[in-house]
Amino acid sequence: MLDWGDFLQDDNFLNAPVTVLPGVGEKRAQTIKALGLETVRDVLFSYPRTYRDFQAVVAPDQVVIGEEQLTKGSLRNLTERRISQGRRVIQGQLGSGLTLTWFVHHKGQGSSFLYRKLQKADKLWVYGVAKAALFGAEMSSPEFFVREPRLGLMPVYPLMSGISNDQRIRWAEMALKSVHLLPECLPPETQGNLLNRADALRAIHFPQNWANQNQARERLVFEEFFLFLTGLQRGKEGRDGIAIAHKPDGDLVARYLDSLPFQLTKGQKGALAQVAEDMESARPMRRLIQGEVGSGKTVVAEYGAVKAVASQGQVAMMVPTEVLARQMAGRLQTSLQPLGISVALLIGNMKSKEQERVRAELALGELDVVVGTHALITEKVNFRHLSLAIVDEQHRFGVRQRSALLGKGKADLLVMSATPIPRSLALSIYGDLDTTEIRDLPEGRRPVDTRLVDPARRGDVYRYLVSRVHQGEQAYVVFPLVEESEHLDLKAATQELEELQEGLLSTVRVGLIHGQMGKEKEEIFEAFYAHEIDVLLATTVIEVGMNVPNATVMVIENAERFGLAQLHQLRGRVGRGRKEGVCFLLAYNLSAHSRERLEVVRRSNDGFFIAEEDLRLRGPGDLLGVRQWGQPLFRLADLQEDQLILQDVAQKVRELLTADPTLASYPQLCLELDLQAF
Ligand code: ADP
Ligand code: MG
Repeated sequence: MLDWGDFLQDDNFLNAPVTVLPGVGEKRAQTIKALGLETVRDVLFSYPRTYRDFQAVVAPDQVVIGEEQLTKGSLRNLTERRISQGRRVIQGQLGSGLTLTWFVHHKGQGSSFLYRKLQKADKLWVYGVAKAALFGAEMSSPEFFVREPRLGLMPVYPLMSGISNDQRIRWAEMALKSVHLLPECLPPETQGNLLNRADALRAIHFPQNWANQNQARERLVFEEFFLFLTGLQRGKEGRDGIAIAHKPDGDLVARYLDSLPFQLTKGQKGALAQVAEDMESARPMRRLIQGEVGSGKTVVAEYGAVKAVASQGQVAMMVPTEVLARQMAGRLQTSLQPLGISVALLIGNMKSKEQERVRAELALGELDVVVGTHALITEKVNFRHLSLAIVDEQHRFGVRQRSALLGKGKADLLVMSATPIPRSLALSIYGDLDTTEIRDLPEGRRPVDTRLVDPARRGDVYRYLVSRVHQGEQAYVVFPLVEESEHLDLKAATQELEELQEGLLSTVRVGLIHGQMGKEKEEIFEAFYAHEIDVLLATTVIEVGMNVPNATVMVIENAERFGLAQLHQLRGRVGRGRKEGVCFLLAYNLSAHSRERLEVVRRSNDGFFIAEEDLRLRGPGDLLGVRQWGQPLFRLADLQEDQLILQDVAQKVRELLTADPTLASYPQLCLELDLQAF
């Protein structure tokens, strides 16, 4: 038997696997590992995505329209009605003037479980957003408690399949018992008025009030930026080495360029010239190619690959997911194998015999190009002479992973990102890379026809989508729900999707992906890719780089809740083939300001411009809890919201590194950098 008391005082506890936590067996540990929780320490650093404000209990007739609040009263006039096959609506009255409504699935004869539960409760605590109703106010599908919940700010953790929020709360409480053992990593001279690390971690999970939560967030955002930037700067050392000076373009490269079925765009030509210059020099290339989805970055990667192989080098290309790895390997096989260049795939989800064969060929130098996921950076992978490392969609990888790949040879590095980032931010974030932008799209590529649609015409939109599907095309429907929603639980959210599935989309094959999914998500992507699914309903963002040329229609529900750059990225998923893409933005609560924002996306197709406008137009009112994607390098920090902190940190990091370039006098900081894979 473990003695918890002692165990918790031992910092090994922080490094212990999550299986030491209550309710976590081997199997569940696998699932949550995929979501980034491996050790108890990870529990500390996986923050609530929001909080429920249980600081005050309002009387039912005092609820404020449009705000989330906790109210309490006894439930009267409870009714349950059948509204369609298997669907019921339950309604009741809390106090005077607040109507509560729930929708449930219930196919059986008697009353539903929810109804019976509500019937038994004599007092009810209800949490939700009230809307104005005909008489008084109404809350739809609110959360409720039959006993008084713990008051204060309640952390709400990102959903994980099979794990309740209460369970996450217990884990956090447990992990926090050892938080004092976690060393401070920030150099004292940079800390200023920030909370110390342990206090910040306590307060981010269980803040005393909003001010306290703010302080905690500020400290932890500072820490994220600090570790990120010091990690980057440290990473710069690699730059001083030497790399292979690749040969000028010869016959092989010429044959590759001749084989292209199209004219290169101006942006692509510029990028190729730049890459040629970098690769031919003995100074290591460290180049970022920024170009939005569809701008043709793969050509740049292929060109680099051919050039490397022509100089007897090997090429490794790392992408974030197995689906993308397969897609990319397939593409490179088609384009490079005819030139006599061998291309193989290396991912974890492959027969181990096969993996061994690929690794053996790489070590012997018999294989020219390998495309893979993290599987590429395990120790077992060795190259005969790696001369070019390509990292696609780089924001998904830490600097550390990048250098792990580079560490496998004296290689040049080419990083590709589809997230246009305003110059001012790019400098801070990608400070260690030279950047090249591809700003134009291939000739003849029609921009996605984007329409802002009144929700009254929602039915027409879906009927149009179905008509395109009946012509053999595919479509996406994107919802900002589930993970982002503050008070809807997964059931309520998926209910909306099921409704679509049973109603407007009943004649087509539908697949659903949501944020709680682990491995199944990839399987559904594969099925969509293979056209076994017509319409992909996504409550989570669709993979960057996901390329299904047959997909032509996209519907974005609650478009006003997405960031502009995000919308632009999303619509880039359609119209990638011969047929023009169309994207419908359905916005339900459109303020003048939201309209202005959405108009930017409707009118412009320039990702860089959109990113700048997004930055300019994003007032605090737009931060509705939908995290900007494309920046998951940070757990808390938001590149736009936290720009001031970023600037402050950048300044401090510069000073620190000028005074102590190797950070020799900050061992704790160095340890932390190693630990966090920066
Ligand atoms: P990215 O990775 O930048 O999103 P891709 O490299 O996948 O874009 O290119 C998108 C599509 O455009 C591919 O089908 C590719 O073959 C095609 N393409 C690339 N460059 C050109 C070009 N110059 N003219 C026409 N089509 C192009
Ligand atoms: Mg790409």
